[in-house]
Amino acid sequence: MRLILLGPPGAGKGTQAKLLVERLQIPQISTGDMLRAAVKDGTPLGREAKQYMDRGSLVPDEIIIGLVRERLQRADCTRGYILDGFPRTVTQAEALGKTLEALHASLDHVVSLEVPTEDLVLRIAGRRTCRNCGDMYHVRFSPSKTDGRCDACGGPTYQRDDDREETVRRRLAVYADQTAPLISFYEARGLVRRVPGTGEIPEIFRRITAALGT
Ligand code: ADP
Ligand code: ADP
Ligand code: ZN
Repeated sequence: MRLILLGPPGAGKGTQAKLLVERLQIPQISTGDMLRAAVKDGTPLGREAKQYMDRGSLVPDEIIIGLVRERLQRADCTRGYILDGFPRTVTQAEALGKTLEALHASLDHVVSLEVPTEDLVLRIAGRRTCRNCGDMYHVRFSPSKTDGRCDACGGPTYQRDDDREETVRRRLAVYADQTAPLISFYEARGLVRRVPGTGEIPEIFRRITAALGT
């Protein structure tokens, strides 16, 4: 199954993607995680991307498109994948369409996770991310068992630089302006499954799997 998780920053895409990986046994492809790994490794791509990420802007389409195109051709993608945080612009969506066409593949579903803005701000403000494995926690809604330590790998958890208040506002504005139009883009193709993204994490997961029929 090839699916896209679409939704604003803080909607729970990463959280739900991890549950879907276990259920469907297909990889999560998170462009945010890929970029943060490149930043951490100090690669030229990471250094370029960081300037945009720190400001809450999108990294230029050509960089992202190249990164994803390469990733989709790896062996673990043959049974499908979960795209998390990509595409984020109509240009990226069109490029994805071309890449899929060249691979004789097509998308099955676009899950649109819908969460009110007030909740997004609270979620992002309390988000903690594992420095080693990228797992997400929330200081109130989903704390790790030991404060500051990842349950999965024991690594240290931290607050992402771009999860501070001013940058969050900018990212939400960028979402409304550049990414939200993808909902009608994919609606025109009959692919959108709207899922309310508020409530308990397992309940949202049940809504998603019901929408996918899995
Ligand atoms: P969130 O889900 O909280 O918005 P991500 O981890 O998906 O965060 O993205 C973090 C940052 O990485 C974005 O603000 C943007 O700068 C960059 N980024 C991630 N994915 C893309 C993409 N598909 N296109 C452009 N920039 C991206
Ligand atoms: P995204 O990838 O869409 O930016 P995340 O999955 O990282 O979102 O979730 C953002 C924050 O909200 C994290 O701290 C996560 O633990 C928390 N979170 C995720 N789902 C829920 C939920 N249903 N209720 C409350 N908090 C949640
Ligand atoms: Zn970890």
